[in-house]
Amino acid sequence: MIMQSITSLDQEYVAGTYGRFPVELVSGKGCMLTDSQGKEYIDMGSGIGVTSFGFADAQWLNAVNTQLTTLQHTSNLYYTRPCAELAQALCQKTGMKKVFFSNSGAEANECAIKVARKYSAQKKGSQYYNIITLINSFHGRTLTTLAATGQDHFHKDFQPLTPGFVYVAAGDIEGLYKAVEENPTAAIMMECVQGEGGVLPLSEKFVHAVQRLASEQDIPLIVDEVQTGNGRTGYLYAYMHFGLTPDIVSTAKGLGGGLPIGATLMGEKVQSVLGPGDHGSTYGGNPVCCAGALSVINRLDEDFLAAVREKGEYVFSALSAADGILSVSGMGLMIGIETERPAKKIVMECMEKGVLCLTAKTKVRLLPPLNIPMDKLKDAIAVIKAACACKEETE
Ligand SMILES: *Cc1c(COP(=O)(O)O)cnc(C)c1O
Repeated sequence: MIMQSITSLDQEYVAGTYGRFPVELVSGKGCMLTDSQGKEYIDMGSGIGVTSFGFADAQWLNAVNTQLTTLQHTSNLYYTRPCAELAQALCQKTGMKKVFFSNSGAEANECAIKVARKYSAQKKGSQYYNIITLINSFHGRTLTTLAATGQDHFHKDFQPLTPGFVYVAAGDIEGLYKAVEENPTAAIMMECVQGEGGVLPLSEKFVHAVQRLASEQDIPLIVDEVQTGNGRTGYLYAYMHFGLTPDIVSTAKGLGGGLPIGATLMGEKVQSVLGPGDHGSTYGGNPVCCAGALSVINRLDEDFLAAVREKGEYVFSALSAADGILSVSGMGLMIGIETERPAKKIVMECMEKGVLCLTAKTKVRLLPPLNIPMDKLKDAIAVIKAACACKEETE
């Protein structure tokens, strides 16, 4: 049998939604990945912030394998222990009251929006359906979460999107008040650090203004922790660093450590909004995904989070003011690098040198596994630094 090359197979049969790097990854161990040619890479992307403890982590594998070989799926018609225990762990660690499980970040946000709309419609009237989100935000790819995403270029070919989304610039407190005044509001929704938008943390002043307005006017505050959550920023959830009390928190990416799971956490105010039949998901709360997520969440204790912050500080100090680097932004191990040279070029060069990085808009973005050993982190940063400093353009 003649084997088609992986690139031609992909091009022929897989929908062309992704620009892929010319690499076929075949296995991983810890923070290292191996391609089909046997070449090794240090992983500074974690599959976009997903593989929190790297690849083939013994504890995570044990949790997942044990559940996988016992019972892989039941639907939500029955009880399963991992789902209930994960919900308990998430609530106990955050003070939130209820959890709805889904399979992705977009779905976690869909649920958050449904909860906020139902709460506000019941409390204030059906015209209170508008969701205020931020310009340059990213909340997902479904038609509703695309509408929530404050970036026009994602919208243009898919009109009409779900109506009722209003955008305000991050930092524009006056604009925020005006938006709420002019649009009967069901929720305010934000990422504490805009990830896809370029790894941009919101200012303390702005997030506290959002919190104040939301509390004063009984508007549910939704914090999208899909990328920032689960230890990524050096805090269990980024909102904790800002001292916020969100009503709804959505998360996904790093939660499952590599398995698809989304979670929508509901605080006191909205805990009873969803009743029987209001929402659902066939896979949601899948026992294998929940067992993996529980093993991830249980390891994110204060010592571990302090180590994430320390590694983040190392990266910041190693890269700040380095040759060819204009600025470094982010929190913990969620880092954006503004470079003199095009980010794409730097990422390609790093890949050739055995380091896999991401981009976010015009920046190089780093989301390494949270447990990356210091020596590997230093090796990767040396490669990234050299690529940023490189003067000659090879066009
Ligand atoms: C990735 C991301 C999403 C979408 O998550 P999917 O799992 O791809 O649906 C939503 N919000 C934020 C902040 C994200 O980074």
